[in-house]
Amino acid sequence: MVYWSWKLRMFPRRLTRAAKSWCGWVRLLIMTLYYNYFTTYMIVMETAAEPMFWFVDHFAKYFGPIFVTLVVVMTTSVVVIFYTCLLPHVYHQDLAWTCFHLVFGHWLLVNIVFHYIMAVFTNPGTPPAKNVPEVVSICKKCISPKPPRTHHCTICKRCILKMDHHCPWLNNCVGHYNHRYFYLFCVYMWCGTIYVSWVGYELFKQHFYGTMLMFFSLFFNHQEVEASGTGDIGALKSQEFTDNQTYLFIGYGHAFYHHAVLYEFILCSGVTFALGLLLFWHTRLIHGGQTSIEVHINQKEVSKFKKKNLVYKNPYNYGWNKNWQVFLGFTDTRSFIRHVLLPSSHLPEGDGLTWHRAHYKYDKDKGLQLL
Ligand SMILES: [Zn+2]
Ligand SMILES: [Zn+2]
Repeated sequence: MVYWSWKLRMFPRRLTRAAKSWCGWVRLLIMTLYYNYFTTYMIVMETAAEPMFWFVDHFAKYFGPIFVTLVVVMTTSVVVIFYTCLLPHVYHQDLAWTCFHLVFGHWLLVNIVFHYIMAVFTNPGTPPAKNVPEVVSICKKCISPKPPRTHHCTICKRCILKMDHHCPWLNNCVGHYNHRYFYLFCVYMWCGTIYVSWVGYELFKQHFYGTMLMFFSLFFNHQEVEASGTGDIGALKSQEFTDNQTYLFIGYGHAFYHHAVLYEFILCSGVTFALGLLLFWHTRLIHGGQTSIEVHINQKEVSKFKKKNLVYKNPYNYGWNKNWQVFLGFTDTRSFIRHVLLPSSHLPEGDGLTWHRAHYKYDKDKGLQLL
């Protein structure tokens, strides 16, 4: 009797153990079907992301023209609204302010248009098929030598010198010859959206809060009319609306003006935020002498070296001051005012085929020091 009761108590435990063992066998069986000694976590991740790569390879080229059209249409609409709605509002202020808006606004506009056109139409740079002075590897897609900092773009289907990324908003790769145009376009566009948001904020406030105010006024007045039982909402409207609300009714007659003011501020403040993040990211990279691709390569190298108790340093980081000089193409004859604050089509330093490498020395007290 004791034996059978013990067997009964042990039954659920034995059943669980058997089920676990059976599941283990099934799992092992499935795993053996696709087991590969060379499979790593990275290969699995790459295989899982393969449909996404396929989609980018086949369709990204069609998005480029759409995105460029979007940039042109949105920028044009913001400029047109600025001229027709915001600038007349600015004229009410004193002459000095009006002059400031005219000069500053047009300076930004010229820089935005110039850098965008140059970024879109400048060839980012491709390595020659032969006579490459320094070869670091062979491109598996082009089957041609790759100079340092060069990467293959799967959308453009070619190798790009000092490739940063493929930008759908430019429908072009960002590389050695148009990196400066791309970055300065982002800078000026960001300043432009901040400027337009700032100029349009007062009008936006009036129209946005005005809309809500009118909505609530209408709603509560309607409730009042219903409660009083007269049904004459028109009488209440004319009696009780304040000056501000009357202005709104006039404004509502100009629906375009009202929507344009809202559109201008919402679009520009949204772009200010999104572009600000992108700009911060690129500024950090340029400051450290890296591209968007190199930052991932360098991170991997740092952790690989760390495991061996070694320190990895980016060979193209010449110190922040020199990094900016190289990036902006500064030489002794070039100045910040002429070549950054004003549109300039000067070429970057070097041909993008060979790159000077930074050297470090080890100091007992200070650690690794840039030479
Ligand atoms: Zn290639
Ligand atoms: Zn590309």
